Amino acid sequence: MKQPTVRIGADRSLEHQRLPAHCIRPQRRTPQIASLERMLRQKGLHSVCEEARCPNRSECWSRKHVTFMLLGRVCTRACRFCAVSTGMPDAAPDPDEPLQVARAAASLGLSHVVLTSVNRDDLPDGGASHYAATVRALKDEASAVSVEVLTPDFQGDRRSVERVCAASPDVFNHNVETVPRLYKRVRPGARLERSLDVLAHARRMRPTAVVKSGLMVGLGENEEEVVEVLEHLRRAGVDSVTIGQYLRPSRHHLPVDRYWEPHEFQELAVLARAMGFAQVASGPLVRSSYRAGDAYDEISANRSAEE
Ligand code: SF4
Repeated sequence: MKQPTVRIGADRSLEHQRLPAHCIRPQRRTPQIASLERMLRQKGLHSVCEEARCPNRSECWSRKHVTFMLLGRVCTRACRFCAVSTGMPDAAPDPDEPLQVARAAASLGLSHVVLTSVNRDDLPDGGASHYAATVRALKDEASAVSVEVLTPDFQGDRRSVERVCAASPDVFNHNVETVPRLYKRVRPGARLERSLDVLAHARRMRPTAVVKSGLMVGLGENEEEVVEVLEHLRRAGVDSVTIGQYLRPSRHHLPVDRYWEPHEFQELAVLARAMGFAQVASGPLVRSSYRAGDAYDEISANRSAEE
């Protein structure tokens, strides 16, 4: 069957992509989305929803769910799946950013805030102290808010992981992204063992927090390799996992090897649950921060019920 050519968001560079129907999500531009954009601009803030051209932006932003991207818009790595700009950042972290994020989250009335960032391998701590300052600013502004950090690997520096954990995030998230065989091609500059060590160290530092990770499929991996990565994640103490379909952000990024079928995502979810993950989100358009608050609430409710 001929598949339609669609646009994702406002990005015309995606018009080359022929997506199966289950990867298409209608994009609307509502006054609420426009006002969120304005607020981010006014406060000098960035979102990964825009920078990564996320297909869920319309849905998430209609519900005021935005994932803040700290430390600028230029990443020191060059992952071949990612739409964020690559290069050498020309600015130090903005000391005002933690407070601006906290105020933005408060004015949106967010009960669960997700923070992520570009890689900042140019900074001595990879940006860890900036993450910590933002978590603290959020908790100072609204003590009931839960905070999820989706961090880089800090080049495996455990002191950076400790610095972030010392600010008591409720969820420590770090994505492994793909299977080890594809790292060189997909995620040069990273290694699976290093990412697993980051997650395991966060587990040790924050025994009661949720430790979360995620990966994409559609880059050339097979099911056995995905299951193997899930096993590694469980051994590292990860309790929550996201699995989504890789979508090529532009012609300059890696092509999609295969679109996994919706039933295959469901099968992976069943499998992951059976492996002991407390929370699993698996679907074509699942992203790390997609409905992250719901995922956190689910784990918290289950934990309370077990006590
Ligand atoms: S899934 Fe995450 S990155 Fe995508 S729009 Fe929603 S909050 Fe933003």
